[in-house]
Amino acid sequence: MTGKYSTFKNIQKQIDKCAKILGLDGATLALLKEPIRTLIVNMPVKMDDGTVRIFTGFRVQYNDALGPTKGGIRWHPDENLDAIKALAALMTWKCALLNLPYGGGKGGVICDPKKLSASEKERLARAYVRALAGFLGPLKDIPAPDVYTDPQVMTWMMDEFSVITGYNVPEVITGKLLVAGGSKGREDATARGGMFVLREAARFLELGLMVDESRLYMPPHVLSNIPDASPGDDVVNVAIQGYGNAGSLAHFLATRLFKNVRVVAVSDSKGGIFNEDGLPYSRVSRVKAETGSVVNYESSMKISSEEVLELPVDILIPAALENQITGKNASRIKAKLVLELANGPTTPEADDILHSKGIFVVPDFLANAGGVTVSYFEWVQNLSRYYWDYEEVYRRLDAKMTRAFWEVVEALKEFKDKNIDPRTAAYVVAVRRVVEAMKARGWV
Ligand code: GLU
Repeated sequence: MTGKYSTFKNIQKQIDKCAKILGLDGATLALLKEPIRTLIVNMPVKMDDGTVRIFTGFRVQYNDALGPTKGGIRWHPDENLDAIKALAALMTWKCALLNLPYGGGKGGVICDPKKLSASEKERLARAYVRALAGFLGPLKDIPAPDVYTDPQVMTWMMDEFSVITGYNVPEVITGKLLVAGGSKGREDATARGGMFVLREAARFLELGLMVDESRLYMPPHVLSNIPDASPGDDVVNVAIQGYGNAGSLAHFLATRLFKNVRVVAVSDSKGGIFNEDGLPYSRVSRVKAETGSVVNYESSMKISSEEVLELPVDILIPAALENQITGKNASRIKAKLVLELANGPTTPEADDILHSKGIFVVPDFLANAGGVTVSYFEWVQNLSRYYWDYEEVYRRLDAKMTRAFWEVVEALKEFKDKNIDPRTAAYVVAVRRVVEAMKARGWV
């Protein structure tokens, strides 16, 4: 997943950059640059054919100065500790930036979920919780879904933890199925939160994005009754890389919550498609569901996943994996605004190039923070055993995302003389909060 790039080194470079601006001392910086706890487990799992396979799993608890650690679990054949450490650090900044009472963590298992049956997945999910049970808990570390894990996997994990504890503990894991204590609005929270930030960023950059206020807080099942429409004048063109939960829902929501968005390109792991007249969500998503890839959508030109990044669009949404925009291709990016729905899609070299070209990058730990924010709402609902409706969830999500965006703008202004980019500004807001908590607690 990382290829020749070390995602964690990228994060450490970003921390260094931020530390210089904030003038952090050596001990504080050292603590911020490494996880507080790293766990590696090897788990025996019975396969359907009667054999036993050993799976390696990770959980990194990066920093818990602001509260229990929080973050997703990825299942991927290329999973590795370097990426998990980086993503756990990102979760720390994400929770701090959104002002959630959490630290950051992340987990992963090396496996190919596409080759596991449902019952093998269930046994793997339960094995992971058994291996780590002593380190998890509603006030210790609260996992959630991420790449190739879903509400069903979270529900099995919650059940296993509850069995070990001896009573129901829905608040140990978020992103569960609704019937098992999940929150309304959690499934599209990452993309929905991204749209709220997109609205604010477009306002800030005066991109002329037109919002349909009446639809902003509509539940997905109501929005899905609205057919694809072609935008009129003053079209804002969008390209999306990645068609998993975040990318496909970004396609869906961007063309429903805004009046003048046209999504001209999308891609998945098999390649990309382009049509300058727009790609209708309902048809592309059906082709993806039926054939396994967007590339089989006929009314389009086939392009590579890399080419999707370089199109002359207004807004680019990387929603796939890490290290997609690098020193090699950054100079060819033409969008005015990049909304990072993926975690870690841009390398530090690319950041510098994009900044010098005047491209505004909404960093991952702001752009995709909607997921963990609604996870926080789920945890609050679980703890109080009182559940909210969609509108309440989305309204509160909007308030948190909007506030965080403008706090980043404030930091951009505060350090105007240093000409910092939006990612560094977001770092300043988040790291300052973590450092204040570490100082207040007497750690440094
Ligand atoms: N995995 C998501 C993220 O990267 C959500 C984490 C959570 O809900 O705790 O933000």
